Amino acid sequence: MKTNATESEVFTALETFQNKNLQDFETHVVQKSQRDLPTYGTSIPSLTVRVHYSSLNYKDALSAAGNKGVTRQYPHTPGIDAAGIVSHSEDSRFAVGDAVIVTSYDLGMNTAGGFSEYIRVPANWAVSLPEGMSLADSMSWGTAGLTAAIAIAKMQAVGQDPAHGPVVVTGASGGVGSLALLLLADLGYTVWAVSGKPDYHETLRSLGAARCLSREEVDDQSGKPLVRPRWAGAIDTVGGNTLSTLIKACDKEGAIAVCGLVRSAVFETTVYPWILNGIHLLGIDSATYPAALRKARWQELALRTPALQAKLQQITRDVSLAEVPKVLSDMLAGKSRGRYRVQLTS
Ligand code: NDP
Repeated sequence: MKTNATESEVFTALETFQNKNLQDFETHVVQKSQRDLPTYGTSIPSLTVRVHYSSLNYKDALSAAGNKGVTRQYPHTPGIDAAGIVSHSEDSRFAVGDAVIVTSYDLGMNTAGGFSEYIRVPANWAVSLPEGMSLADSMSWGTAGLTAAIAIAKMQAVGQDPAHGPVVVTGASGGVGSLALLLLADLGYTVWAVSGKPDYHETLRSLGAARCLSREEVDDQSGKPLVRPRWAGAIDTVGGNTLSTLIKACDKEGAIAVCGLVRSAVFETTVYPWILNGIHLLGIDSATYPAALRKARWQELALRTPALQAKLQQITRDVSLAEVPKVLSDMLAGKSRGRYRVQLTS
């Protein structure tokens, strides 16, 4: 067992508290000690990580708002993303000083998350930082980038090809959406970006969108099970009737990756898009995506970072821990833009 952090070492973290009236939730910066970190028993080797960067994702906004589907018990430290340096290792695959990325599984949900200078997690949750990728870059991507990369890999596995026609990305100004746009455009796909922010369309074009659509343009109200094919595939982050529309207007054999639910978790459809158009509906779950494949996606992101660096920086804003609660509430209101990276080192 190797360590360079003492049990009494004090560090800074964010914590979400449920108010006395048990209705509202508030998130504040607090001081914690290593003793507050979770423990896992002898059968689960753990890593303690000095977090250098985290990033903001919609799930963090849900956790900080008291969504019991994400976090059951409070006080709680959200943050489904973390990148940092191992300060204590119980696993021979990782040594003190190794740079790691921790995402997925239960991080930030019911396990104290990355909005903290230290985390302790089962070693299996960590991925070694790929060669050529900095800790800072890894959190420009974060779970949002990993999710976009998984969606694209799954679409490619069922034959989605740039030659088939445009691929729609919804919630395009958001984290998953903007990175899906960036990655797809770089692979040669024609990308149509759907965004409710007309003043962000210019930025979306600069990221590679061939066309920008309003949310209303992807919200079919005809009641028909199928409509004229308009796109060859889609990465959807919003759900609801947006997803119903993507499905009914998808061309033959197209793939639609289902990532999120910011509009609604419920959508209506019929069997016709499958039995008449042969479309593929692909579920994306970055939290339980197999570890070996997750590593492969991070390697791909590392390889693609140099070419996309300038655009990645264009959409990444650095925020301090103290600024996180405000950005998370903007996110819930659909007002956030691009990626927010949290810097935890001075
Ligand atoms: P963001 O908040 O960064 O982006 C969401 C975007 O959705 C907004 O920027 C906005 O974009 C759009 N939007 C917001 N409200 C609405 C609405 N009512 N109707 C239509 N569009 C809306 O979130 P993330 O990118 O972090 O996450 C997006 C979704 O993906 C979430 O549901 C999240 O839980 C899910 N997710 C799923 C993962 C998985 O593994 N399946 C992993 C990561 C995220 P615009 O204004 O441009 O339209």
